[in-house]
Amino acid sequence: MSKIVIIGGVAGGASAAARARRLSEDAEIIMFERGEFVSFANCGLPYHIGGEIKERNDLLLQTPESFLNRFNVDVRVKQEVISINRKEKTVTIKRLIDGKEYDESYDYLLLSPGAAPVVPPIKGIKNPLTHTLRNIADMDTIKNIIIKHQPKHATVVGGGFIGLEMMEAFHNLNITTTLVELSDQVMTPVDREMSGLVHAEIVQKGIDLRLETGLTEVQHRDDDSKLTLQLSNGDFLETDLLIMAIGVRPDVTLAKQAGIEIGELGGIVTNSAMQTSDPFIYAAGDAIEEMDFVTGKQTVVPLAGPANRQGRMVADNMLGRDEHYQGTQGTAICKVFDLAVGVTGKNEKQLQRENMSYEKVFVHTASHASYYPGAETVSFKLLFNPETGRILGAQAVGKDGVDKRIDVMAVAQRAGMTVQQLQHVELSYAPPYGSAKDVINQAAFVANNLIKGDLKAIHFNEVNHLSDDQVLVDVRNPSELESLGWIEGAINIPLDVLRERMDELPKDKEVIIYCQAGLRGHVAYRQLVNNNYKARNLLGGYRTWMFARS
Ligand SMILES: Cc1cc2nc3c(=O)[nH]c(=O)nc-3n(C[C@H](O)[C@H](O)[C@H](O)COP(=O)(O)OP(=O)(O)OC[C@H]3O[C@@H](n4cnc5c(N)ncnc54)[C@H](O)[C@@H]3O)c2cc1C
Repeated sequence: MSKIVIIGGVAGGASAAARARRLSEDAEIIMFERGEFVSFANCGLPYHIGGEIKERNDLLLQTPESFLNRFNVDVRVKQEVISINRKEKTVTIKRLIDGKEYDESYDYLLLSPGAAPVVPPIKGIKNPLTHTLRNIADMDTIKNIIIKHQPKHATVVGGGFIGLEMMEAFHNLNITTTLVELSDQVMTPVDREMSGLVHAEIVQKGIDLRLETGLTEVQHRDDDSKLTLQLSNGDFLETDLLIMAIGVRPDVTLAKQAGIEIGELGGIVTNSAMQTSDPFIYAAGDAIEEMDFVTGKQTVVPLAGPANRQGRMVADNMLGRDEHYQGTQGTAICKVFDLAVGVTGKNEKQLQRENMSYEKVFVHTASHASYYPGAETVSFKLLFNPETGRILGAQAVGKDGVDKRIDVMAVAQRAGMTVQQLQHVELSYAPPYGSAKDVINQAAFVANNLIKGDLKAIHFNEVNHLSDDQVLVDVRNPSELESLGWIEGAINIPLDVLRERMDELPKDKEVIIYCQAGLRGHVAYRQLVNNNYKARNLLGGYRTWMFARS
């Protein structure tokens, strides 16, 4: 009979405990959680603050009693494991109620302590109106401040998932909100031009978005009523509530003390069986480094999906199976008001850092047949290896159909598909749901046009630096230029009159074509090259170019 001890009772820990019991009636399973709750829905915390999830209880998926009844797991809450004694194979626990300490032995130990919010050492940051959001207690604190102080203004520092969700929560509560982000974009898992769509949505909803701005100092009034924030651009901001959401760091305190190997990225090193450098100690979730599916290198990805799957696998392996983790893609999605923004695999910035060869295409096309009511544009970016066609990553932003496209891409990537194969993916279609040529097929067609040489592309970031040997042509209708704007220096020859007016274009120069989304530009491109012109088409068209600047 194995004795399994688990540290951390939420995503990774609770998954492991339940799975272990399903595999074995005999195993002794003890789960320690220093907080008051186990198996709570951390991902739902911002939505309860914002009022979408009305009942706090809905976030509490299990209780120690329900765990005991259903799974016969000995759950000990408000008990913190304070050390691991590897030689004796015991852990020392502190009961937070009375401070008493005791030891518990283990055959196998799982570390699933999660990640702690990063709070930089900014002057004045420790005050009663500044908080992070990690667990139910944090959520209760923030909710209580909202009820007690009725804040008129809130500031969120950090434009990642949690920051964006908190921004929306405050907006839903009619609290004027400033979002402060040090980088030039929110949602760094997608590339800058894709986040431009998100910036436009945020600003349109009335949020005071401050990009390329850091928080440098916090001044707190003695009466607890307000904070004055000093920002890196010299601005001062009065606010009633400050949320720090600049990221999380693997919680490796215990592992470090126990001499378990910590990797260069700051997480607990695990092998594919989820074992740490001590074969009797496994680790899962936000605290670990695992293999990146695309690069094969170590990575740290604090997401619920990997944590849950790893926890389940740990239980398998502790109980004699031989399961291996297949790597993390970083598939993620976030709701930002009416938009969804999703991603899988590597983004362009990461591919550049890794020195990996890549090509990119953009399409902006309807979430379902455009003639059926309710269609919305899905803006889609596909990254692939131009030599092998291997899918490296995908990003999508839009009001409808983003989750479907990102999930299909996550599966395609996981299955090792190439963009050549992606052309043949057969997706469900009827007008209310999709298109006969889905967004994904279309992106694959463009990618294959590039690979086969049927298309010579120019990207949004190159259009601003054209030489005297290039001429820029906008093939949209004049009314579109008037209503949407155009790129400085372009001449306008609408696609439908291009054949008649082609002579106006010089054959000794390269014609750089663009339209709104890239499709009409491609038709124009083909016309021109079939008439012996040198040409290139702006992928993603004016829309990508414009959002790269938003
Ligand atoms: C507000 C918020 C929103 C999120 N939204 C999403 C989302 O939409 N999608 C998504 O994929 N991910 C989301 N996440 C991330 C996701 O929740 C985590 O990736 C996942 O919970 C990690 O699981 P874990 O088991 O590693 O850690 P956790 O779930 O954080 O659990 C770790 C637990 O260990 C306990 N613990 C730590 N040390 C000890 C100790 N020494 N003794 C006893 N107990 C200890 C902690 O108290 C904690 O409860 C969100 C996270 C937050 C905070």
